[in-house]
Amino acid sequence: MTQLSTHPWDDDHLKEECGVFGIYGIDEAAAHTVLGLHALQHRGQEAAGIVAFDGHRFNAHRELGHVADHFSSGKVVERLKGYASIGHVRYSTTGETILRNVQPLFADLEVGGFALAHNGNLTNAYALRRDLVRRGSLFQSTTDTEVITHLMAAAGRGDVVERLTEALLQIEGAYSLVALAEDMVIGVRDPLGVRPLLMGKLGSATILASETCALDIIGATYVRDLDPGEIVVIDHSGVRSIKPFPKRQHRFCIFEYIYFARPDSSLEGYSVYEARKRIGAELARENGVPADVIVPVPDSGVPAALGYAQEAGIPFELGIIRNHYVGRTFIEPTDHIRHLGVRLKHNANRAKVDGKRVVLVDDSIVRGTTSKKIVEMVRAAGAKEVHMRISSPPTTHSCFYGIDTPERSKLLAAQHNVAEMAKIIGVDSLAFISIDGLYRAMGQPRRDPDKPQYCDACFTGEYPTTLTDQTDNSPRQLSLLTENA
Ligand code: SF4
Repeated sequence: MTQLSTHPWDDDHLKEECGVFGIYGIDEAAAHTVLGLHALQHRGQEAAGIVAFDGHRFNAHRELGHVADHFSSGKVVERLKGYASIGHVRYSTTGETILRNVQPLFADLEVGGFALAHNGNLTNAYALRRDLVRRGSLFQSTTDTEVITHLMAAAGRGDVVERLTEALLQIEGAYSLVALAEDMVIGVRDPLGVRPLLMGKLGSATILASETCALDIIGATYVRDLDPGEIVVIDHSGVRSIKPFPKRQHRFCIFEYIYFARPDSSLEGYSVYEARKRIGAELARENGVPADVIVPVPDSGVPAALGYAQEAGIPFELGIIRNHYVGRTFIEPTDHIRHLGVRLKHNANRAKVDGKRVVLVDDSIVRGTTSKKIVEMVRAAGAKEVHMRISSPPTTHSCFYGIDTPERSKLLAAQHNVAEMAKIIGVDSLAFISIDGLYRAMGQPRRDPDKPQYCDACFTGEYPTTLTDQTDNSPRQLSLLTENA
């Protein structure tokens, strides 16, 4: 789910845009959903929402902020009665946030109530929205996701699954959807399977979730990942699978393994932790450098740094310590304070870097601003040499499939070669894993037409779908309403 507007980039890491969870056939479905959303909180910290169905009514609660901020109260969960429920966490930005964009979105369709939660990004949402508005649709939000419910309403005939299918046949892009209709939870993965969505079981209840960590937290067992282009319908008669799209080559987002997903999750049958370690080992084989210590940039760089250190036979040390208690509400009032901000989150561990040749391992470089500050910090703590190794290829292109990336002109690797980047960041050497090395680490030959491939467009510019909205220059007046955040 993406807000259809530009928003400022507030950090130097890519941000996931949303996690989804759904459960059918259990008492206190909403309470289970709260736990699931807690496990998926890393996928979005801007807002959270839950809609439950109790056999008669839909009960919803949507708020800006963290799950713990709004769903810890017994009163809230008590009100969300039902045996079926879906939930959503949304990414964080410093941009304007409005409650009407918080998911799950809800619509009263001719076929009954329908709640929808989306992870991903539609690449033809503007074009579809313009057409729908011309035909009389009144949009309530500025998200791409709402296009789906309007297309369902405009379908004019069919049951809820048929209408949803008709809507999906018109949209392009990346989407893992979890929807709640009367007595039914529906899960959908786009035809390329870009974003994750998997199924689990807890007794007789069926669960849908973005990652396996959301199954673990409620004690559910993993059943399988949904296939690309699969719709699953879960109701009192069981689980039904529909595959209405022509078969396409699987293009799962490789960045889920590198950075976004939690390391204790498994996606598509691969442990994220093991994938990161293998990528780190491949990085060491490709780009080794004499050093005394391997230091991860916390937290996401840790498994790759471990893999690197084990492969290189160099000690692994926590040479940078992260402060976990920095509130997300920290406001940076002046440039001076903003510059100090990195020390709020990280501090160099002098005992482990002083006088050493240090290899810093991180997962990506976006703008380079955080990397530069971390290198300065490690040097100030006495490091003799600082080398940086990155467990992804250079991020040269923006993502249009649900990851919050800055425009190309703001991506350091789109503007500079590796030698220039090393100079800007202030390291003695800089190297990235190659795209072929990344595929090797994942045990997959690259661009094999007979094998599933990954989406790697942010490194290669090879987008696996059309990008209709990117080539459309028509004015985009989305909303005249400003709302309190
Ligand atoms: Fe993932 Fe990059 Fe593809 Fe976006 S462009 S889906 S981040 S691999």
